Amino acid sequence: MPELPEVETIARGVDERLRGDRIVEVWFGGHREPFKTPAARQAKGLEGRAILAVHRTGKHIVCEMDPAAQWIVHLGMTGRLLVTTPEAPVAVHTHARLTLASGRELRFVDPRRFGRLEFRDLSRSPSFSAPGADPLTVTAEEFVRLFHPRRLAIKAALLNQKLLAGVGNIYADESLFRAGIRPRRQCGRLTKAELERLRLSLIEVLEHAIELGGSSVSDYVDADGVRGFFQLEHCVYMRTGLACLDCQAPIRRIVLAGRGTHYCPRCQV
Ligand SMILES: [Zn+2]
Repeated sequence: MPELPEVETIARGVDERLRGDRIVEVWFGGHREPFKTPAARQAKGLEGRAILAVHRTGKHIVCEMDPAAQWIVHLGMTGRLLVTTPEAPVAVHTHARLTLASGRELRFVDPRRFGRLEFRDLSRSPSFSAPGADPLTVTAEEFVRLFHPRRLAIKAALLNQKLLAGVGNIYADESLFRAGIRPRRQCGRLTKAELERLRLSLIEVLEHAIELGGSSVSDYVDADGVRGFFQLEHCVYMRTGLACLDCQAPIRRIVLAGRGTHYCPRCQV
C-alpha cells in the first residue's frame, strides 16, 4: 500500500508531467469498483478540461482542473498512475486512459481494485479535503490539541486518519523510534516536549522518504510503468529480533491496534 511519501512523490511526478496539459478523450474500463463517481459522468466531466496542478491531500492525489473541477485519485493497495505514449502496451487491469492534448496518455492501473477515482465539479460540489490534519504541516499547538486529550495508545492515535491524514504503519513505528517513545504509551500521559519531539520526528522521517523518492520518480510514472520505488532504511519496522541500530538491543514486535508494531525496548521509554 503506498504510504504518504510515495503518494507525495507520485503527485509531484504527475504534476511535473501534466501541468498545463488538457484532457481530450477518456476511456474507462468495465469494472465498477474504481469509479466513486459513475464512469459516464466522470468521463463527461473530464473531457476538455485543462490540468492546472496536481498535489497530494492526505493519501489522495488531487488534479486541479479548469473549468473548476477536481479529479481525485486514491491508489488503494495496488493502484498506479502512468504517463505514457499512446503506443505503449496497455497493462492488464488498466481502468482508465486519459488522452492528453500533448499526445500522451495518463493511465490508471490497479490489479486489486481498491483504488478509487472521483470527479468533482466545483461549481456544484465543495473541494476535496482530508478528514485529518496534514502531518507535514501540522503545527506544534495543533499536534498537542489533537493528541493530548486522547486516552488511547500513541501508536493507535498516529494511525487514526481523523487526527492525522496519511500516516501509515511504517512511519508511525519509525517516528516513535526516533522520538524515543514506546508505542503503547497513552497519549494523555505524554509531555508536551515528548509530543513535540514526535511531531518533529514524524516530519523528519516523512521528508527523508520523500527526498529519497524524488530521485526515483521517473521509475514510478514512466513510459513502461516499471515500478522501482526506493526502500527507506528502516530502524525498527520489520526488524524484529535484529539489533537496534543505536543500542544493539533486539527489536521487539507487539500487535497494537491490530497492526504489527516494532520498537526498541531500550531506546524507547
Ligand atoms: Zn535501541
